Amino acid sequence: MEFKKEEIIIFEEIKKYIYNHNNILICSHKSPDGDAIGSAISIKKFIENCRNINNDLVNTNVKVLFPTEISYQYKWLTENEDIIIAETNLKLAEEAFKSADLIIASDFNEPLRLSMCKDFFETSKAKKVVIDHHPLFNNEYDVIYNSTETSSASELVFNLLSYINLNCIDDVVAIYLYIGIITDTGSLSYSCNYASTYNAISILIGTGIKGDEIHNKIFNYFPIEKTRLLGHILKDKLVVNPEYHYSYYTLTKKELCEYGYKPGYLSNVVNYALNINNIFVAASFEEKEDGITKISFRSRDGYKVNQIARDYFGGGGHMYASGADYKGSIEDAVKLFEEIIKLNINKIDCCR
Ligand code: 5GP
Ligand code: MN
Repeated sequence: MEFKKEEIIIFEEIKKYIYNHNNILICSHKSPDGDAIGSAISIKKFIENCRNINNDLVNTNVKVLFPTEISYQYKWLTENEDIIIAETNLKLAEEAFKSADLIIASDFNEPLRLSMCKDFFETSKAKKVVIDHHPLFNNEYDVIYNSTETSSASELVFNLLSYINLNCIDDVVAIYLYIGIITDTGSLSYSCNYASTYNAISILIGTGIKGDEIHNKIFNYFPIEKTRLLGHILKDKLVVNPEYHYSYYTLTKKELCEYGYKPGYLSNVVNYALNINNIFVAASFEEKEDGITKISFRSRDGYKVNQIARDYFGGGGHMYASGADYKGSIEDAVKLFEEIIKLNINKIDCCR
């Protein structure tokens, strides 16, 4: 593997931090997706391998924490793992932040993404390392490994770990990293124009993991309730505005309850709203607790949604895939969304 000079400097720094601290807490964002889970747990597994294979890092305690629960499609990756879910054990989460001397934040760089753990994170005296592929909006960390020119945080973790010791990336570590890459790229269908991604995939598959089996486990075993909910959205809820090239759907708490909604049922369903001829921006609006509307934005062909997510809805994310927890009703959120799109659509080259 060849690395850029700037990368090597960062890798050396992170390696030093890992080797010089005994209580490492790896954390990622709320509603953890495949990349959050993959990038975080792979580091823990790698450190355990370094211990078992090389008798290295023998005194290093590693914990992994997510603010909210793991959705159904990723449960098999975490059920035998000693991980902390803050929403079900806040005390344990607080203690984990307090006892850590090094925190590794993967797949996010804005503390707000830690939800109820934001304050624990910000007030922690631990050194902080960030490994992330989102645009950087907070650089108050000790080391930052950030690139938006990559598939996923998991690919960045792969780069780091293969620099530290490629021999310690076994099939177990590889499953986590592979899942991070394929879930953040829609199985290599977007954010997938980097040769480095395929190089990583090649090495990961080379450990013996089965790409087809992994794909099936994550994408092809829907609970029937999820399929029915999808049908409801597509048939009854999708609003399409061809004149202004946008589409969206809304889901109330009542509807979600009727369909037996569980976390993960709606992940990336918003892509159905986007993948329509002549549509360039799409959104989904889900009613949550406490007057919050969870929004997912998707766009394409030069129409960037992350600025809109940030400026108007208090969220953020990638150019073509962003989100927000909007403080307001679904109706207000939809009204604002439609106003903004109508104002901006003529400025977009792709839609003229
Ligand atoms: P999704 O629509 O799948 O929930 O999220 C898509 C992307 O938007 C995520 O990968 C993340 O980058 C970003 N995102 C989602 N929700 C939020 C949020 O509340 N705040 C910020 N800053 N980004 C978000
Ligand atoms: Mn990611």
